Amino acid sequence: MPEGDTVFHTAAKLREALVGKTLTRCDVRVPRYATVDLTGQRVDEVISRGKHLFIRVGQTSIHSHLKMDGSWKVSPTGRPSRAGHRIRIILEAGDVQAAGIDLGVLEILDRNQDEDTVAHLGPDLLGDDWDPHTAAANLIADPDRPLADALLDQRVMAGVGNVYCNELCFVFGHLPTAPVSKVSDPLRMVQRARDMLWLNRSRSNRTTTGDTRRGQQVWVYGRSGERCRRCRTAIEADRSGDRVMFWCPNCQR
Ligand SMILES: [Zn+2]
Repeated sequence: MPEGDTVFHTAAKLREALVGKTLTRCDVRVPRYATVDLTGQRVDEVISRGKHLFIRVGQTSIHSHLKMDGSWKVSPTGRPSRAGHRIRIILEAGDVQAAGIDLGVLEILDRNQDEDTVAHLGPDLLGDDWDPHTAAANLIADPDRPLADALLDQRVMAGVGNVYCNELCFVFGHLPTAPVSKVSDPLRMVQRARDMLWLNRSRSNRTTTGDTRRGQQVWVYGRSGERCRRCRTAIEADRSGDRVMFWCPNCQR
């Protein structure tokens, strides 16, 4: 599942490719919007809100969400894509093409109302209006709630996906299943989440340990059976739920 930093990074890529340019092709491959044609209109801005992306073109806003496997690929116009039938939308501006592939959500909205779709989100970890106090209060609002559930709930704060969720639980010494009431300093936790995403917002090789070398980038995520970097205990994993959890049985309670 893409994390907020991936979406932020994607927005930057689309911004560089499209903003200020006039669309020379607009091909929306979703039946409901098949007649939408923004050719000839200028791309004004590309913004991200949590894991949501908006490409604003005139009075229209193209809203997309990457969900599990989605991506936007920018390439020179005319180069055949291997994504084929997985492409949901193609936007071209002269010699550059942006293709939305396997997007979990793709809808064409009225620009003036596009942010209604993200009104339910908590403070955006990578937004200009990031509000740690509200995020911290949201995080512990329901004391019995498992920590991983609260961290992943985009209404608590927007941008944490499963990688950061597992890493934050490790850094703070809590099991993903521990109740949020165990978190002694929720403000510090949400600030750490912000720091992690912020440091990775323009990087392609994500790190939560501060080490960008291959194999050294994360504390626990994807490391089941490997040694904990702090105590050398074998990292455990639980794949039985709808998302996989990783933890050190010695460092996390
Ligand atoms: Zn450990």
